[in-house]
Amino acid sequence: MDLGLQGKVALVTGGSKGIGLGIVRSLIAEGASVANVNRSEAEGRALEAEYVQQGLDCCFIQGDLTDTSACQNAVEKTLERYGRIDVVVNNAGVNDGVGLEDGPAAFLESLQRNLIHYYAMVHYSLEALRKSQGCIVNIGSKVCETGQGGTSGYAASKGGINGLTREWAVDLAPHGVRVNTVLPAETWTPLYEKCLAAMPDSAAAKAEIERLIPLGKRFTTIEELADMVVFLASPRSSHTTGQIIFVDGGYTHFDRKCTSLSDITEFGAAAD
Ligand code: NAP
Repeated sequence: MDLGLQGKVALVTGGSKGIGLGIVRSLIAEGASVANVNRSEAEGRALEAEYVQQGLDCCFIQGDLTDTSACQNAVEKTLERYGRIDVVVNNAGVNDGVGLEDGPAAFLESLQRNLIHYYAMVHYSLEALRKSQGCIVNIGSKVCETGQGGTSGYAASKGGINGLTREWAVDLAPHGVRVNTVLPAETWTPLYEKCLAAMPDSAAAKAEIERLIPLGKRFTTIEELADMVVFLASPRSSHTTGQIIFVDGGYTHFDRKCTSLSDITEFGAAAD
């Protein structure tokens, strides 16, 4: 399927690592040019150089998105370089464990790490998106649906992203701009691997999580997540807007018997 992304320009936050890197690679594979905003420079510069060698474009923009002027700068730099923005992918975020005990100041900082820059990126891109009749894809988390405990700031941010998806879809429909959100649950990234590796029995910890993922008893891959994002970013999803789409192997919604009974190997094997 030709996704029709050839020649389009995408602005991606947090595209140097993990899920964001998968999104950048999929967008470029489909013929888009990418502007990639991150705090740290090394990976972003290396990615830029890798694609330059292939005659492809993945321009790195340094910035800490908790500073809204960095969001404005990212949009301006992208427009200076490419003259247009067709896609904004809001991806950067961190489950920072700011809980009820941590207090309002820490809570606000968590919103800055996870929510405020989603709004700022879209705010500063508005004119360009209206002009290109472009689209926005946000990356959320299942945490806003399920809760996790001990992570109020992240849960509120991800809940806010779901709300803004519907709100912006309504705002921007008259301009032909689509807005959708993709929710991961357990996606296997280098950071996830590093976190589990720090546990006393990392293999057991991994297996325990996998047991809870109905489809295939395995983590979602970065590529599976990125493929959904890139489809939603493409004109092939031209009548899809305001949607919150779970790419999670059934983690969030399936009947608990799919995972709570260890002897179930295929769905439907247990009685109701
Ligand atoms: P990751 O591996 O830590 O990558 C995050 C990227 O975002 C990094 O490149 C990081 O760059 C950048 N970033 C983070 N905060 C930034 C800031 N303030 N300013 C600029 N860049 C920033 O994370 P991931 O697991 O791929 O997560 C990506 C998204 O998926 C997040 O929104 C997360 O909430 C969501 N998610 C992931 C999972 C999962 O299983 N992995 C599950 C649910 C939701 P620097 O570190 O260089 O700044």
